[in-house]
Amino acid sequence: MIDRAHLSSLLERERKTFVERNPRSRKLYERSRRSLVGGVPMNWMTKWAGPFPVFAERAEGARVHDVDGHEYIDFCLGDSGAMTGHAPPGAVDAIVDQLRRGTTMMLPTDRAPRVGEELARRFGLPYWQFTLTATDANRFALRLARAITGKPKILVFNWCYHGSVDEALIRLSENGTTPARGNVGPPVDPALTTRIVEFNDLDALERELAFEDVACVLAEPALTNIGIVHPQPGFHAALRELTTRHGALLILDETHTLCAGPGGCTGADGLEPDLVTMGKPIGSGVPSGAYGIRAEHAERAFGAGAGVDSDWSGVGGTLAANALSMAAMAATLENVLTPAAYEGMIARAERFETAAAEIIARHGLPWHMSRLGCRVEYRYAPTPPVNGSEAVASTDCELDDFTHLYALNRGVLMTPFHNMALMSPATTDADVDRCAEVFEASVQELTAS
Ligand code: PMP
Repeated sequence: MIDRAHLSSLLERERKTFVERNPRSRKLYERSRRSLVGGVPMNWMTKWAGPFPVFAERAEGARVHDVDGHEYIDFCLGDSGAMTGHAPPGAVDAIVDQLRRGTTMMLPTDRAPRVGEELARRFGLPYWQFTLTATDANRFALRLARAITGKPKILVFNWCYHGSVDEALIRLSENGTTPARGNVGPPVDPALTTRIVEFNDLDALERELAFEDVACVLAEPALTNIGIVHPQPGFHAALRELTTRHGALLILDETHTLCAGPGGCTGADGLEPDLVTMGKPIGSGVPSGAYGIRAEHAERAFGAGAGVDSDWSGVGGTLAANALSMAAMAATLENVLTPAAYEGMIARAERFETAAAEIIARHGLPWHMSRLGCRVEYRYAPTPPVNGSEAVASTDCELDDFTHLYALNRGVLMTPFHNMALMSPATTDADVDRCAEVFEASVQELTAS
C-alpha cells in the first residue's frame, strides 16, 4: 500500500526541514552531547522523530514553545503527565502557594484527607497511599500483593508497560518468555517472577492462574502502551472471577486509562479491583502517584506492628506524599480533572476520531482509528488488535517518524511512543481541526506517489 522508497524520500525531506528550522535546539543538543548520555537528560528522549529533540522554552495549556520560537499544539501532553494541560491555572496557584509554604516536612497536611476522600469516591477503594511516580505505585502494590497472599509470582499481559517495574519487563516468545527487548540488567530472569499471557486470552489466563502461585494480576484496563487494545466483551468480568477463584489479587494500573473519565476505567465501567495504581497527570505535572486498596487488604498488609518497621518495608520514599505533591493532587482533582472538564476532553477526542477516520477512508488507507476517552490514535491496520502481539505486528517505525516529523514541522506535537492525540481541558476544536488538517496533508503526500 505504501511506496517505501517514496516514504523514505519524504522522511529525508522532513528531516532536512527539521534541521533547518531548529538551529537553537541543534546547538543545545550538540552542547548536551558533551555532558549528557546520548545528548539528552533522559534516555527515551532520543525517541522523538528527528535527528535531535526540540528543546522546550515554556508550555501553557495545550501549547508548547521551543527555543527556536516555534509554537506547537501539544497532543503529546507529556505522554499524559500533562493531560491536565500545561501549568493549568486551577492547580498552579495552589502549587506555587505550597512551594512558598514548604515542600517536604515529613508531616501530612490538610490536603492528604482531601485527596484520599476524592480518590476513594472516584475509584471505590477506601484506603490510599502516595508515591512520586506510577512506577513506584506499581512496585509497592506488587509487594503488598505478595505480602497479602503469601504467593511469589505476578501475572501480566504481553506488551504491557507499567513503568520500570522489574517483574513486568517480560514478553512472550516462541519458546516461552524472554526479558522485554531493551530491559537493562534485569536482577533475575523475569520468568522466575512472572507469568505472562496475551490480553483477552482467558483460556491462557485460567491455565496460568491454575498454578496457584500468582499473588496478583497487574493489568491496565485496556492496553495503551502498544497502542490501544480494548478488552473484549466479558473480559473484565472473567478476569475478576478467575483472580478471585485462584486467590490472586487484581491490580488495575489506571495511569494512562485516567483518559477514560474522572475514575478511569474503574469508575467508567464499574470494575472491582483489589488495588488501583496511578501517577502522571494526577499532580498536573508535579511528581505524584497513588495507590488505593481494599480495607481487608490494607489491614493485612499494614496491620498490627507495621508502624515499628515501616521505614524498612520496601514500600515508601522520603519525598513520597510530600506537601507539594499532595497540594498538586488536591488541586488537580478538585479544579482541573473534573467531570465537566472530561466532557470537553472526550468531545474533542471524538471530533479528531471522526475527522481522521474520514481522512483514512477518503485516501483508501487500510488503517483505523481507536479511542479511549480523551485518548485517540490512528493505527496501521484495517481492524483493531485483540492482543499485544497483534498490535505490535501493525507498528511501522518509519511511518511513525514521517507522520510525527511532518506534524512537528507544521506546529503539531505527537507523542514519540504512540500515534496518540491526547486532549487536555485547554485543547480546542480549532486545535483538533488543525491536527486533522496536518494529518490529511501528510497522508496526501504519502499516497501521491
Ligand atoms: N503505568 C503505565 C500504564 C504507564 O504507561 C506508565 C508510563 N508510561 C507507568 C505506569 C509508569 O509511569 P512513570 O514512568 O511516570 O513512573
